[in-house]
Amino acid sequence: MEKTGFTTRSLNVPYSKKDPHSSLQMPIYEAVAFEFDSAEQIEANFRGEYVAHVYSRASSPTVEYFELKMKALLNAHGVLAVSSGMAAISNAILSVVKTGENIISGHQLFGHTYTLFAHTFSDLGIETRFSEMKHQEEIEKLIDSKTRAIYFETVTNPQLEVVDIEMLSAITKKHNLLLIADSTITPPNVFNAQQFGVDIEVISATKYISGGATCFGGVIIDYGNYNWELNPNLTNYTPKFGNNAFIAKLRKNIYRNTGGSMTPQTASNMIQGLDILEIRVEKCYQNCMTLGDYLQQHPHVKAVGYPGLKNDPQHFFAKKYFSGIPGTIMTFDLESKDACFQFMNRLKTIRRATNLNDNKTLIIHPHSTIYAEFTEDERNKTGIRDTMLRLSVGIENTNDLIADISQALK
Ligand SMILES: *Cc1c(COP(=O)(O)O)cnc(C)c1O
Repeated sequence: MEKTGFTTRSLNVPYSKKDPHSSLQMPIYEAVAFEFDSAEQIEANFRGEYVAHVYSRASSPTVEYFELKMKALLNAHGVLAVSSGMAAISNAILSVVKTGENIISGHQLFGHTYTLFAHTFSDLGIETRFSEMKHQEEIEKLIDSKTRAIYFETVTNPQLEVVDIEMLSAITKKHNLLLIADSTITPPNVFNAQQFGVDIEVISATKYISGGATCFGGVIIDYGNYNWELNPNLTNYTPKFGNNAFIAKLRKNIYRNTGGSMTPQTASNMIQGLDILEIRVEKCYQNCMTLGDYLQQHPHVKAVGYPGLKNDPQHFFAKKYFSGIPGTIMTFDLESKDACFQFMNRLKTIRRATNLNDNKTLIIHPHSTIYAEFTEDERNKTGIRDTMLRLSVGIENTNDLIADISQALK
């Protein structure tokens, strides 16, 4: 019988090997090394002829099961779990771009992704050409023979701009480039990257997938649609590994040698996180919609940003790409920075913290925190107003959230 729902499928992904005790829960294999029956068997393993776990920095059973679940849920070709979202982004890009080459990326990026591109990669001679992501011609103007990929975030944070993914996919196909998406904001139960032409997806599993801010992790997903022979950095891998070349390069080179592995304990949290992802997203979404309606009619609120709302200018793309659920982060504007601070300080249920997709509702004033190191000009360019608050909406009872906001807005 085919299991079609996200949660049902998540709960029924088979293990790679039958558990000797028939455990219904994937055990946490907290082991560094795995033994072999004979010298011949080890030799066969190192030659690639006998597949088994050897040393847990490279692969381990609990982490492998998390990867298998992601692979099954996303219908992906290959999946690699790593130690954080930043490890996913840096490992994926270092596998496909080298010194002297470039990628094109949107201006509006998660802060550390921006500094990775603008500082860390640029120090290594890997250039990022920042572009606004709305107009095909502007993006195409930046492409040259050294361009390897276009990189974007599905919904930018905190601006909450939704990119036209099919437009980007048309560009990358036309120029034989890779399309890489950071889909952290739009969890895998609402976003099917493959359907819209994304080749590689990177996710900070720390956010939604961890079950609610329980641990750090990242995931790199290959949908198997890109012809790796088109990328000169994969030519050592394509003859032997064919369309597994990208994951093979990660496992045999970039990921293994830089050591950003996920721990078995973390993988176990992620495994649970996937099972409860859909019900959490649904609750957060309901809360977003109710809070959105409430805030929109409140006289002290100047503007509300949430592409899930029918009157939001981005709602068309939210429906097209994310089944109407463009993540569960929202923003709203008050009269002034002062009003924002007073509001935050009066809150009793909503927590002042910078994270996304915790089970708790979190609030932050991006202008004075995440964007504190930016000049006012940079903040203006990236749409960061000092009157704006960002809410990462959690799973509390809706009425309690409304009551908290209502008393703090007085
Ligand atoms: C948090 C986040 C990251 C980085 O993830 P970590 O797990 O903190 O390394 C990358 N991209 C986006 C969109 C994020 O929200």
